[in-house]
Amino acid sequence: MVENKPLITLRNLRKRYGADELATEILRGIDLEIHAGEFVAIMGASGSGKSTLMHMLGCLDQPSAGEYWFNGQNVALLNSDELAQLRRQTFGFIFQSYHLIGSCSALENVEIPAVYAGVKALQRHQRAIDLLTKLGLEAHTRHRPSQLSGGQQQRVSIARALMNGGQIILADEPTGALDSQSGAEVMALLKQLAQQGHTIVLITHDPEVAAHAQRQITVRDGQVISDTGTASTLTPAPIKPGSYKETNDHHGTEIIEAWKMAIRSLQANLSRTLLTLLGVMIGVASVVAMLAIGEGSKQAVLERINAMGSNLVMIREQSRGRMGTEALSSLTAKDAHSIALLPNIIAALPENNGNVTARFGNFDINTEVSATSWEFPTVRNWPAVWGSFFNADDEQHYAAVAVLGQTVASGLFPNQDPLGHYILLNNVPFQVIGVMEEKGATGWGRDADDVIFVPLSTGNLRLFGQSQIRNITVSVDRVEAMEQTEQAITRFLDQRYPNANFRVRNMADIVAAVSETQNTFTVLLGSIAAISLLVGGIGVMNIMLVSVTERTHEIGIRVATGARTRNILQQFLTEAVVVSTLGGIVGIGLGIVAGLSASVLGMSALFSVPTMILAFACAVGTGLIFGFTPALKAARLRPVEALST
Ligand code: ADP
Ligand code: MG
Repeated sequence: MVENKPLITLRNLRKRYGADELATEILRGIDLEIHAGEFVAIMGASGSGKSTLMHMLGCLDQPSAGEYWFNGQNVALLNSDELAQLRRQTFGFIFQSYHLIGSCSALENVEIPAVYAGVKALQRHQRAIDLLTKLGLEAHTRHRPSQLSGGQQQRVSIARALMNGGQIILADEPTGALDSQSGAEVMALLKQLAQQGHTIVLITHDPEVAAHAQRQITVRDGQVISDTGTASTLTPAPIKPGSYKETNDHHGTEIIEAWKMAIRSLQANLSRTLLTLLGVMIGVASVVAMLAIGEGSKQAVLERINAMGSNLVMIREQSRGRMGTEALSSLTAKDAHSIALLPNIIAALPENNGNVTARFGNFDINTEVSATSWEFPTVRNWPAVWGSFFNADDEQHYAAVAVLGQTVASGLFPNQDPLGHYILLNNVPFQVIGVMEEKGATGWGRDADDVIFVPLSTGNLRLFGQSQIRNITVSVDRVEAMEQTEQAITRFLDQRYPNANFRVRNMADIVAAVSETQNTFTVLLGSIAAISLLVGGIGVMNIMLVSVTERTHEIGIRVATGARTRNILQQFLTEAVVVSTLGGIVGIGLGIVAGLSASVLGMSALFSVPTMILAFACAVGTGLIFGFTPALKAARLRPVEALST
């Protein structure tokens, strides 16, 4: 017996395309009732609106006006997730052009509706294999659609329609593209399904095909012009809506599937994927390497400063005029002697320096002369390695002796021992009595070995022609009392030169100042690297946008088989994240290699795990942010439009 309540009720259903005067009405007031278990054929000429009607029935498109009641529910009131659920659990689509996903095997195509229903992989495989076996395709489960004949592809799509139960089968010209043999097979299958209790809506323009159905409806110009009506008895037990129950813990399945699909699609476009990967990789690698080099150079500089000794205090007069106008300072060697007598001070090292031309034989270089006291090696912890530094006697007697830094020694004496030779400093002869230990670069990046030491007395008299000095380096005995000692020095200087202004800084102050400069340097390097990461992100976005455009059809198929908006979003977002995660991992490796190469070349690189984690997180974040727009674009595609591409 036929139940009173129809499964599907359409009331004055209309569909318009376009707006205003250009609008054409394709469905012009369809009234229709279909009961559970009916086998209905909808006939009509090409262009009469049959497919449009089927899209409405299958919730792939929305009517412009009129009502669609499904199983007592007004479909217009359902949200997109509920519509997706209806497509997934209730409808099974069979299209003239099969609409299979080309990159998936027959088995995977059949499984898709179950993936979105959250069925576990094992169960899913089993059911899909059972269905394919029943349809005579057991030998073709691993084949791609392109490896199957039309009839076989259509049977795969029938299996897919049945995967979640397929209570209502919506078949749009299912035999239209098939030869008569395959067409007959498909029709036999549909008849069989009708007998099993499936409700079937078959669209065709062929009256012979329509004759297989119990009921024939004819559509012309968007209106029903004839209907043979519901038979008085239907199949013994129509499958009721809601007979298919979904599991609630489908999120895990969805995530795993999204990853699998992402990896598959990335593999399918390998060269493109690799190029995108390269962008992210370079970004992450440069962040890791740049920050490591920045941090390494900072540490190296600080180490060098600290190697000078943490007990030093530097005294220098603040320039009084504009920069460089007041080069001369008030300090003299006598002040250094007075400061040395203050408590807690081991030695006070006066120093005067300036640029000179040093000459020996044919060799001629510009370098710096530092005129200082004999205590220099002890205070600065910097000994002579060949010969010796000058002594108190030399200083007292204005001895014309010089101790060379390594750079100067090798510059003037490339192939001989400099000791004992006379060199000319600004044409004044000095005898070389020693060569200093190699020191490397200073904290400020200058070559510390590019220097010549002479006694302060001699230097001031013969080279600089002045008695003032530039600075005094004090070595403090007890570092704990550093502050009081600095105060004592300042008091002494203020008393002696009430109008001058002195800068008294200990090594800790200098370290702080230098590390600030170095931090700026690191930030600068880091931002350059961050920009390249951003460029990598734009690459991800670009590739994703292309991918969405290319795969619109696939998206349409997924939506028709029950994917929720969130599933599509998730799939494309996962792709973006997979690329950037891979890029992040490889990029970190590459960054380490780059940093290590830099340290082989003499720079210092200091890697830090938090930096790498940060760079990695940035890469993944970049993927998420730049992948979001394309993913959203994919998720928002209208199913019918997506399918028709
Ligand atoms: P049938 O399946 O009966 O051949 P369709 O339902 O596919 O017919 O199409 C009916 C009419 O609607 C056709 O004239 C077609 O050009 C038009 N049509 C279908 N989709 C659109 C659309 N998105 N925009 C404008 N016109 C459309
Ligand atoms: Mg059509």
